[in-house]
Formats: sequence, structure tokens, C-alpha cells
Amino acid sequence: MSKKWLENIRRVTPYTPGEQPKEAGVIKLNTNENPYPPAPGVLRAVRNVTEDSYRKYPDPVCRELIDAIAKEYGLDPAQVFVGVGSDDVLAMSFMTFFNSDRPILFPDITYSFYDVWAELLKIPYEQIPLDDELKIRPEDYTRPNGGVIFPNPNAPTGALLDIESVERILAANTDSIVIVDEAYIDFGGVSALPLLDKYPQLLVVQTFSKSRSLAGMRIGAAFGSRELIHYLNQVKFSFNSYTMDAVSLAAGKAAVEDVEWFERTRRMIMSTRERTAAKLRKLGFRFSDSAANFLFVTHPEVPAEELFTVLRENRIYVRYFRQKRIDNYLRITIGTDEEMDTLTEFLGTYLENRSAGR
Ligand SMILES: *Cc1c(COP(=O)(O)O)cnc(C)c1O
Repeated sequence: MSKKWLENIRRVTPYTPGEQPKEAGVIKLNTNENPYPPAPGVLRAVRNVTEDSYRKYPDPVCRELIDAIAKEYGLDPAQVFVGVGSDDVLAMSFMTFFNSDRPILFPDITYSFYDVWAELLKIPYEQIPLDDELKIRPEDYTRPNGGVIFPNPNAPTGALLDIESVERILAANTDSIVIVDEAYIDFGGVSALPLLDKYPQLLVVQTFSKSRSLAGMRIGAAFGSRELIHYLNQVKFSFNSYTMDAVSLAAGKAAVEDVEWFERTRRMIMSTRERTAAKLRKLGFRFSDSAANFLFVTHPEVPAEELFTVLRENRIYVRYFRQKRIDNYLRITIGTDEEMDTLTEFLGTYLENRSAGR
């Protein structure tokens, strides 16, 4: 049989998400989840979702969540868009804004969903190499393009681009849309949000998955000029009117309203990050400063893949990317102080035994 219909199937290589181990008692430092629970009001809000809200379609314009976010960030609700995690928001943004024959630009080492969406949506793209220290060079983003996207801080390096450099990229790209993916901005970076007034082609994307402990609820947001948000909504309503469900709408609103919880937990993570960084440096690991909730580390004597494997055998999960230029690095999510102590103690013992030939 010829199966001629096979020719009409869209073939894609999907994004590979990090492992979600089923066994109990693992230390899970592999997908940048927040080790702390979401704000207490979130569970209350979820419990209070009425039977009627389950029965009926959710609010297609996500009014209450958008208003709460707009209020917190001092923006007009018409400048805010929400979706099912920032992955949904970003995919929708690729579809809405990247429609040029010219390639869109993003770093060679970055969030590995960008090239997947570009392939899926048949958007031409060019991956710009990071410099030898794995940093973005703003001057590389001045060539003709059909759009620009980069995370700040970058993933999986954790490196923060200072706000002056972000603005240089915007100033050099007034003819194309520039998306700054701020998934990790709450862990010590300076957001590009204040630049929205000056650059109508800027879209800032954030997520509730990391700094607001809601990866399981799938809530993401985009901030931009009213014009950009209008076009994003036109595409969303041409695709699926009900992206966000009643439960996540309620959870998201409660999360954004508890500023104190947000401040407290993100500060705990930043302080654990610095504590862990000092210990890992003592163990000989090398890495640049991270402004995210993870560290991207390499060891001059021990291959990353070996460490990844022994850690995993001892039920400590970190992320290893079998990818050129970074295949000797581990991305370690910042957990609680206790979890990080278990990790550094384990590594200390392992490295000691290894160099003693045991
Ligand atoms: C985690 C992450 C996202 C996606 O997060 P969602 O859970 O879909 O909101 C987007 N961009 C980067 C760089 C990330 O690390």
C-alpha cells in the first residue's frame, strides 16, 4: 500500500521537557521549579471555584486575571495578554509577529523551544553564537532580521544581559518585533518593562511557573503596546478562545495579589543560590554569575555527564544537555537550603573519593 497521505503530514522534532520522576524521595533540581509552595491564597482561591465555573466556559478575555496583573505591574489592561504558560504565549507570539521572509534571530544556546516553534511554523531563523563566555553580544543583533527573541536572563546559562544592552538591541531593531523572554527575571534581573513606553515593538513575556511556584497551573503573560496586544488577541481568538481554564484564572489572580509571599520566596531562592554557588566554587566547579533560579556549572576535571549519571543514581536529578558547546555543563535548579546541602555534600564526597582513586 502506498500511504500517499504520509506526504501531507507535518513532520516536526518536538521539544524535550525535563524528566518528571515518579519515585518518591528524589531531590528534583532538573526543571527549574520553585521549591516553595505558591502563595497561601492560591489554594483558597482554587477551593472556592464554584461548580458553576466548572460547568460553564471560562471568561475568554481573562478579565479578572489581566486586571490583577495590570494593577500589580502599573500597566493598562490593554497592554497585557495571558495564556497557558509562557510556552503558549510565546508560541502565539511567534505566530503573530514573526511573518517575515527574513530570518528571526536568537542565540545558539538558549531556550530550546525557539527553534522548535520556528520549524513548526516554518519561520526562517538564524542562531547567533554566544561569545566564548557564553554571553549574548548585543552588537550581533543589528543585522537585518524578521524579529528577535532572547531570554533575559538567558537559559540555560543564567547570564543576565544588562538593561542598557537590552535597550541597544531595541534601538537597533525599530523595524522588527523584539521579544524578551523574562521567565527568570524575578531572581535578580532588571526587567525591560519600563522600556515599553519608548519601544512599541517590544514584547516582554513572563511566567508564573518559576517565581510564583505555579508550573502545574500553566500561566504565562505578555506585556506590550496596545497595538501588539491587540494583534496577539486577534490570533488567539482565531485559534482557541478558551486557552485558560477557570481554575488557573483564579489561581493566577491570587498569586499576583500576594506581593509579600512573592518577595519573600524569591529572595530565599536568591540567597540559597549565592550560598550554593560559594560551596560549588570551593569544590572546583566553574561558572558565571546567575541571575536565575539555577546555576550552569562545569568542572575542570570531571565530565558533566558522569556527574549527571551518579547524581541520578543517587536520586538527585539535575539537567544535562547533550548539545555542542554545553555538553560539559550541568544546569542545577536552586531548591531549598536543605536540598542544596544534600547536593553539595554528595558532590564533595564523590569528588574526594574520585581523586583518591576510590
Ligand atoms: C520555563 C521557561 C519558559 C516556559 O515556561 P512556562 O512554564 O510555559 O510558563 C519559557 N521560557 C524560558 C526561557 C523558560 O525557561
